[in-house]
Amino acid sequence: MKIIRHGAPGAEKPGLVDSDGRYRDLSGQVEDFAGAVLDPDRLARLANLQTANLPLIGKNVRLGPPVGGVAQLLCIGLNYSDHAAEIGMALPNEPVIFMKSPHALSGPNDPILMPPGSEKTDWEVELAIVIGRHADNVNRADALKHVAGFSVFNDVSERAWQLEGTGQWTKGKSYKSFAPLGPWLVTPDEIADPQNLKIWLAVDGTRMQDGSTKTMIFDVGYIVSFVSKHMTLMPGDVIATGTPPGVGGGKKPPRFLKVGETVTLGIEGQGEQKHLVERAKN
Ligand code: ZN
Repeated sequence: MKIIRHGAPGAEKPGLVDSDGRYRDLSGQVEDFAGAVLDPDRLARLANLQTANLPLIGKNVRLGPPVGGVAQLLCIGLNYSDHAAEIGMALPNEPVIFMKSPHALSGPNDPILMPPGSEKTDWEVELAIVIGRHADNVNRADALKHVAGFSVFNDVSERAWQLEGTGQWTKGKSYKSFAPLGPWLVTPDEIADPQNLKIWLAVDGTRMQDGSTKTMIFDVGYIVSFVSKHMTLMPGDVIATGTPPGVGGGKKPPRFLKVGETVTLGIEGQGEQKHLVERAKN
């Protein structure tokens, strides 16, 4: 099943993409794709609905992040060996975990807002894991039973705020609009192998990142297990799994986003995002 949330920011309604690629509303079936609704058993029951009876929604609707009520937005850093090399960082012995503010979440086609004065706003296409079931110290073999699905994520970063000041990466990762998620939450039954997906990002049509989830250092099962040993995961929590090479800060010379550019990104079988880069007004 491909899940969407549609409507104005903060007031999104649940929906799905039917087998013909049309959007259909699920407001009559579920309140939102958040919390207990994300349980894999519940999603499997919803997938049995006769979609032909669900109201059609036009394609012009705004899509929001396909998950609501996200309490934790976690990221894994340096999880592709070739990306660690391009930014001159050593390969990690265990997953590098950092937090991003969930208030940075935005829709898959919303603008990316550059902070006032920012000259180093950068992109990172990533495969996101959405947790569907309470996970506390789960082993690797059971980890995927706790996953509601996967989605496309852009871990937008302000590199000066991330790397040139003091403290942790969080402040360079959390500005409003720095966490576009979607277009869909894709349930695991639709993905043959999450470790064999093409993943890419372009700026104004020029391919900047062109990788495969094959080159992840730690796979999705390992990541869910590892994170759940360090903190409790709840339905709706999101874990972004790191980016392949080709970020702006890794280019020689570095090349960052400019107002008016268009960023497109996608993952095989999971749809695409498209963002206009704008300067935030406040
Ligand atoms: Zn990242």
